[in-house]
Amino acid sequence: MTAYDKLDFEELKKLDETYIMPTYARFPLAIESGAGAVARSTGGREYIDFTSGIGVNSLGFADAGLTDAVKAQAEKLLHHSNLYISPAQIRLAELLRGASGLDRVFFCSSGAEANECAIKLARKYSADKYGGGRSDIITLRNSFHGRTVTTLSATGQETLHKHFFPFTEGFFYAEPNNIEDMEEKITPSVCAVLIEPVQGEGGVVPLNIEYLTAVRELCDKNDILMMLDEVQTGIGRTGSFYAFQQMGITPDVVTSAKGLAGGLPLGACLVKKELGEVFAPGDHGATFGGNPLACAAAAYVVETVTAPGFLKAVTQKGWYLRAKLKQLPLVREVRGKGLMIGLTLDEIDSKTAARACHENGLMILTAKALLRLLPPLNITQEEMDRGLAILGDVLLALEKNKGEDTL
Ligand SMILES: *Cc1c(COP(=O)(O)O)cnc(C)c1O
Repeated sequence: MTAYDKLDFEELKKLDETYIMPTYARFPLAIESGAGAVARSTGGREYIDFTSGIGVNSLGFADAGLTDAVKAQAEKLLHHSNLYISPAQIRLAELLRGASGLDRVFFCSSGAEANECAIKLARKYSADKYGGGRSDIITLRNSFHGRTVTTLSATGQETLHKHFFPFTEGFFYAEPNNIEDMEEKITPSVCAVLIEPVQGEGGVVPLNIEYLTAVRELCDKNDILMMLDEVQTGIGRTGSFYAFQQMGITPDVVTSAKGLAGGLPLGACLVKKELGEVFAPGDHGATFGGNPLACAAAAYVVETVTAPGFLKAVTQKGWYLRAKLKQLPLVREVRGKGLMIGLTLDEIDSKTAARACHENGLMILTAKALLRLLPPLNITQEEMDRGLAILGDVLLALEKNKGEDTL
C-alpha cells in the first residue's frame, strides 16, 4: 500500500491530468486489481474485462501460475545485459520455435520494435544479396504497425501520420485483399511486404486465404520477404498459436508482442532458417530485449497456450461469443477470428457504446467505427455470460434512446 492507493477517483483523475501527457482518451475508471477476466476499480467495483489490456493479458489478471513464474524469476534476477547468455531467453526461444515452426528469434520489448527489427532485417537481407536500390516495403492501407517514426511510416493510415513528417522513406501501401494492386506495387525496388493477417486497429479486417496465398506466391517469385505482423493476432488470439497457421501459408518473418508475456513488455521477431544469420554482431540490439523476467513470463504463457485443448477452447469461445453477439440489439455485423472480434453497430457511435459499457461494468474496446473484443484467452463461461448480459442491456438501452431521439 502506498499513499496513492488511498486516493479516490477524482483525486487520481486530477493528478493523472496534471502529471501525464494526454496521449490517451481515458475511460473514467482507475483499476486497482483483478482476477481472471474481472477487474476491480479503486472504488471497489467489479468490471468484466473484454479487453485483456489490448490483447496483452493472455491469461487474464493475476493468473496464479504466471504470477509464480514471475516471482521465481524475480527472486533470481531481473536483468543482465545481452552481453551474456540467458537461460530464460533460450528456454523461450525453444518454445517459440516449437509453436511457430520458425527458426531463430530476436527479442525486444514491444510490437513497434519487433517490426523495426523485421524492416531492418529485410533491407539488410536484400542489400547483402542484391546490393542497393532494393529497400522498399509494401504494407496495406488501413494497417497498423506501431508508433515509432518508421513503423508509423509503415502504417497505412493517413490520419495517424499528420504532424509527424518527415518519415522514413520506402513504404508503399496496397489495397487489402486486392492481389492486382499488390502485384502492381511489387516493383524491382521492393524487398519485402509487411501485413497483418487480421487487421486489428484498422477495424478487425481478416485477409482472405486466397489473397495471402497469392501474396506468398508473388513473394517467392520475386525473392521478397513475406513478413507477417502478428503482434495482435499471435499467441493464440485467433485460435491457432499464430494466425498464419490456419491460413495455409508459411511466412519468412513473423513479429510478435502484445500477448506474448501475458502482461510484461516483450516483443519478438521470428525468422525462417535462411534468414537466421542476416544480422551480425552490432547490426541490431535492444537493451531491454529478452529481459529474463519477461522471458520467464512468456515461457509460462507459451506453455499454457500450447497445452492440449487450450487453443481449441479459444476457437470454441470465439464461436460462442460471435453467435451470442449476433443476437444482440443494434448489432449489424460480427467479424473476426477466435477471440479477436469486432462488431459494427446500427447508427450508434462505437465510442458512445463503449462509454456506456464502462458505466455499466464492462471493459470493451473500439476500432474505428467498431466495438472490439479481445477477452483473455482463458475467460470462463460465466465471465463471458456476465459480459454479454451487460453488453446486451447497454445496446437495448441505446436502441430505446435512439427511438426516442427520432420522435
Ligand atoms: C499494437 C500493435 C503494434 C504496436 O505494438 P506496440 O507494442 O504498441 O509497439 C504493431 N502491430 C500491430 C498489428 C499491433 O496491433
